[in-house]
This record gives sequence, structure tokens and C-alpha cells, in this order.
Amino acid sequence: MGSKKEEVRRKHIRLHMESTLTARDKVGVQDFVLLDAYTSESAFLDNLRKRFSQNLIYTYIGTLLVSVNPYQELGIYTLSQMELYEKVNFFELPPHLYAIADNAYRMMCSELNNHLILISGESGAGKTEASKKILQYFAMICPMTDSLQIARDRLLLSNPVLEAFGNAKTCRNDNSSRFGKYMDIQFDFQGIPVGGHIISYLIEKSRVVYHNQGERNFHIFYQLLEGGEEELLAYLGLERDPRLYKYLSQGHCAKESSINDKNDWKTISNAFSAIDFTERDLENLFGIIASVLHLGNICFGVNHQGCATIPVTHEIKWIAKLLGVPPSVLLEALTHRKIETQTEEVLCPLTLELSVFARDAMAKAVYGRTFTWLVNKINSSIVNKEFTKKTVIGLLDIYGFEVFDKNGFEQFCINYCNEKLQQLLIESTLKAEQAEYEMEGIEWEPIHYFNNKIICDLVEERHKGIISILDEECIRPGPATDLSFLEKLEEKVGKHAHFRTRRLAGPKGRKRIGLMEFQLFHYAGVVTYCTKGFLEKNNDILYRHLKEVLCTSKNSILKECFLVAELQNRRRSPTVGTQFKNSLNSLLEILISKEPSYIRCIKPNERKEPSRFDDFLVRHQIKYLGLMEHLRVRRAGFAYRRKYEHFLHRYKSLCPDTWPHWQGPPAEGVERLIKYIGYKSEDYKLGRTKIFIRFPRALFATEEAFEFR
Ligand code: ATP
Ligand code: MG
Repeated sequence: MGSKKEEVRRKHIRLHMESTLTARDKVGVQDFVLLDAYTSESAFLDNLRKRFSQNLIYTYIGTLLVSVNPYQELGIYTLSQMELYEKVNFFELPPHLYAIADNAYRMMCSELNNHLILISGESGAGKTEASKKILQYFAMICPMTDSLQIARDRLLLSNPVLEAFGNAKTCRNDNSSRFGKYMDIQFDFQGIPVGGHIISYLIEKSRVVYHNQGERNFHIFYQLLEGGEEELLAYLGLERDPRLYKYLSQGHCAKESSINDKNDWKTISNAFSAIDFTERDLENLFGIIASVLHLGNICFGVNHQGCATIPVTHEIKWIAKLLGVPPSVLLEALTHRKIETQTEEVLCPLTLELSVFARDAMAKAVYGRTFTWLVNKINSSIVNKEFTKKTVIGLLDIYGFEVFDKNGFEQFCINYCNEKLQQLLIESTLKAEQAEYEMEGIEWEPIHYFNNKIICDLVEERHKGIISILDEECIRPGPATDLSFLEKLEEKVGKHAHFRTRRLAGPKGRKRIGLMEFQLFHYAGVVTYCTKGFLEKNNDILYRHLKEVLCTSKNSILKECFLVAELQNRRRSPTVGTQFKNSLNSLLEILISKEPSYIRCIKPNERKEPSRFDDFLVRHQIKYLGLMEHLRVRRAGFAYRRKYEHFLHRYKSLCPDTWPHWQGPPAEGVERLIKYIGYKSEDYKLGRTKIFIRFPRALFATEEAFEFR
């Protein structure tokens, strides 16, 4: 190890010791397990605030990393920082993303097993930034061969492409990921990154046709208009000004100072060529993107029978050209439904409302499936089939718990997902604790905790859970509505301890429906969901007639997205809720099979401002991220544990027997040391390879002795 590096490292150790010792009151503790009042949410909050005020954005709970978004560049992701954390024992340096990444990487290399870094937090808390930084860390510190540089570059470049198509400006985050992402980074037996694989979850398709004031559609639309070459735009029949497109202008902020669409276009153009997209792929891809914009601008009319009409305009011609379908067929499918009787097919004209609905459904389906195609295409470029002996580190960047004033189907799915992930965290922490105690030969003390399986079951159980009840309502003959769904819920799960409905009839004599809500008692608190839109969103209907048209498309991407086989299969495709449930359960299987590390991200304020720490907002997140529960579980047994070697290395100067060099076995040295310091026997236990300390107070005394020696 270079002496310069060692010097820097020592300086860091000293600084960090200082931070945990004399200046503890000012900068807090770097591991929450060292808090005296570990059950107090206020003490937790205080610690986080103190550290944040000193730009210390990372804090541990044992091996879990809590991160607070600084909303400013802190100079903590430099090359020298990366080098500093490389190959260093986890607790030797101040908490950092790199310590988590390095630890996972070293363990994978030495034990040849699969690891997982699970990043969660609410929108704008810094999940995506964290996952990008971890990826950069691996790209930097891992050994590399010339032939594998391409694989590494592709892995890095797939990010901006996916972000262009899957991220958007929202009120909470200018670059908000509107899909969940799981990525495996594959390593060969020498620890060289050789490839990767991505799975995406629940892209927010509704954004293609609608977004709120102050928000935008997916970045790619604006990037194309702003950065696309003249010939490309002419080929696609597009104008440069995003305000000319209905799907892009609802939020009134197509141009946003924090976003440079022109530059981003350049980045993705380069990335596309690096990840093997051909000219033809791009023509077809942007053909689809452009046709979505044209779809949004279709003018509808109403004929004298009250049915929708669409004149053959500029838009229809462009869509037909770009998607490779005859204009007349497209027009018919947008304004009619095919009804099948036993003997024949009848064309039934749509009302204006239904025709607009059909158009929007088409735009959403086309975009959603193209996104899936894109992920598959990226995968075929980054996956490495050559290496049979691979280990992986998985990175999960997924939406955190969401509670708004109004919560709908999306929040229901997202919170269900978080409920499952929380279960995984608690179980894996408990399991790891138990396994460690057993391995170290220390008696296991059972820990009481809230088992949220009961809520997962309430949502997902077959035939009985909320998703099944919703599906039943979606397929049953006769008029099902969001209200009848609520009534079914009342009937079937109304008595469940974690469930309650809130319902009010609408004003008498009018058609309006009153309050239609149900509440779930999540691990993080009670959330009220309004059932309005549940049926429609769960069904996600694309009329068969439109599907038939899309199946005949000459656009090669759409051809892959809409297969004729889907039309021939008469079975209903699974609903959105069921698909999500299935994909979540497969995700859990992937996660369970790996050694997990956790990063919990916190957003310090709603204004995206540096140095502003909003107590109320942060307190909320501490709760929703389940941090107190995690700390309690982590502290229930022995709060602090270290390998004998590391403990001795750090404190050997406190005892004449062990200073400056202890020649015997480290365990014996530690025993001498703690006897000399005067630990009481109930304060600690000695395991096979580690010392376990029950109360951090005892440790503080040691640390202070160390400081003032
Ligand atoms: P979403 O759920 O909406 O996708 P997210 O948790 O992925 O949100 P990010 O996009 O990672 O949030 O972060 C939001 C913004 O916060 C970033 O664009 C960046 O400006 C800032 N930010 C996040 N993490 C950091 C960091 N470590 N250092 C500096 N700025 C950061
Ligand atoms: Mg994100």
C-alpha cells in the first residue's frame, strides 16, 4: 500500500474518530447503534440533522447505510475517494456508498457468492444517483482487460438510454425514474465485470398521455425535438417546438433550466451506437416515438349520430406511414370496436369519449411495449453468455413508500412492493443476526418484531387477497364499478385487522358517487386509497381491433411487440395487478438468493435545496423506511461487534500487554485488553472470531480512553 494513501487513510481515521468522540455532540455518531437513546425517534433525527449540517450525509445502522440527499456536489465521489475506500475494512473509514460497494465486491470475490445492494427511498431521495455512483465505483476499481472494456462501457452507457425513455421531470424530482429497475452486474472469477442484465418494473405508462402542471412527459420526447437532426425530424414529420404537441404541453414547462435536452440527446446518440443499435433500429424506434406525438394531436369530431369521427389529416398520415399500417384501417380501429357474435363480427362505432380513450390506450400500449423492447435490446447487448462461471452483484433502484393526499392504484402497487421489501429486510437482518450468533457460538436471544407478512397476504393471497378481489371484479360479467369493487372488499376482507373502508354515499338525487376509500395499515402507518380508477388501471384495456392493427405493423419493433399469437390466444392476459404481483414475487426470489446490503435514501426538503433539513419531512421518512424498527432489531442483541484483529488493531494502545505489538492470537489479546480496561462480564461476549458488546456505552468509554491516552 502506498504511504501517501496510508497517510490519507490515517487522517480520515483520525477525523472520523474525532467525529465519534469529543465532537460527538456536534457531529453525531456515525453508526446509529451507538446512540444511547436508540428507541427515540427524536434522538435519531437529531443525529441525522447534526451530521447533515456538517455535510456528513452518510450514517450506518450496523451495515445498513442511511443517506441524506445533499442537493449539492460535496466532492466525495472523486477518484481519490474511490481509491481510499478500495480494499479497506468496512468500519475503518467514515460511512460511504463506496464502503458498501467495496464490501459487497470483496465478499463476492472471496466467497464467490452473489450479492445485492438494495436502494430505496422516496422520490428525489437520491436512489438513482447512488446506483450510478456504485456502478462507476465498480467500473473504476475492478481489474480490467482490453477485451472487456467494451462490456464495461456498454454497461455504463445503458443508463442514459434507459433514463431518457423511463425518467421524467415531476414536481418532486427533475429526473424522476418512472419505473423500478433491477440490474445484475456480472463478474468473472477474477472479479472483472463482464456483462449485465436489467429487469424493469411497472413503467408509468399513463404519463405518455397525461402529466400534471409543472411536470413533463418522458425526457426522450423533448430530447428528440430539441436535439434531433433536421433530416430526422423531417423524416418523422415533427416540428421542433414541444408546445405544439398536446402530450408534451399539459405541464407548461416543456423547457426546464435544470435539464439540457440538447446535450442529453448527444449523450444518448453516442450511447445508442455503442450498444449496437443499427440505423434501422433507430429509425423504427423514433418512428414510434414520433407517432405517439402525432397520436396526441389527432382532432376528433362527432357525427350527427353522436359517434366519434376523425378526419384524414396530417397526423393520421404520419402515424400510418411511421407505423407501417394503412391509414383507413387505423382510422377505423380508432373510431370503432369489433363485436364478435357467434356468426359474425360487427363494427360498432365509438362515442367521442371512448374513441379518445382508445387513442390514449394505443399510445400507452405502444410506448410501454417499446420500453420493454428497449430493455430487452439493451440486455442482448450487455449480457455475457461466454462466462459460465459468473457471480453477480445486483442493484435494485426501486420506488419507496408513497403517501400523498390522494392515493390510487399506483400507490397501492408501490406500497405493496415496499411492504414485501421491508419483509425481506427484517427477515434477512434477523436471519443474519441469528446465523452470526450461531456461528460465533453465542446464545441466540429471540427478538420481537412486527411481521408484515399479514399485510402482504392481505394484498396478494390467491382468491382472498385484494388483488384477487379486484381481478374478479374486472372479469365478472355485468356492470362492475370502482364502487362495486369497494363493496366486494367490504364483504370479503372488511373484518381484517389491517383493513378498513371509508365510504359515503354521494349527494342524493345526483349521479355523483361519494367517498370511496379503503385504508391499509402498513408497517409504516395507515394509508388511505381511493378506489376511483382501480378497475380501469388494472384492466389496462387495449381494444382488440387496435391490437389487430398493431399486429400488422411493418415497423419491425412493433412487430416484435405485438405478436399475432397474442390475438389467437383467447385467454385473457393477466391484469396489471396480477402481473405486478407475479413479477414482484420473482424479484423476491432473485433477491432472497443473494447476500443483501441496504441503502436507505432520505430527502431532506421538498425544495431541492442544499443545507435545508426539514424535520417533519425527514421524520416521516424515518418512519416509512422502517429505520427505527431496523435499529431496534439490530440493537436487540449485541449492538456492536468486531473481528478480534480489528478490535485489537484499534485499541491495542490502551493496554501495556498489547502495545505496541501483540504476538499471540488476537482473541487472547482482546481478552487481556478488555480485562485491563475493566469491562464487566455482562457487557460483552466473546465469540469464535469476534467480540460482541451489548451496550455501546461501554464502547464509548473505550473510545474516549483511546482519544485521551
Ligand atoms: P425517483 O424515485 O424520483 O427516481 P431518486 O431517489 O432516484 O428519485 P435521484 O434522481 O437519484 O432521486 O436524485 C434526485 C436529485 O438529487 C439528483 O438529480 C441530484 O440533483 C440530487 N442528488 C441525489 N443524490 C445526490 C448526491 N449524492 N450528491 C449530490 N446530489 C444528489
Ligand atoms: Mg430515480
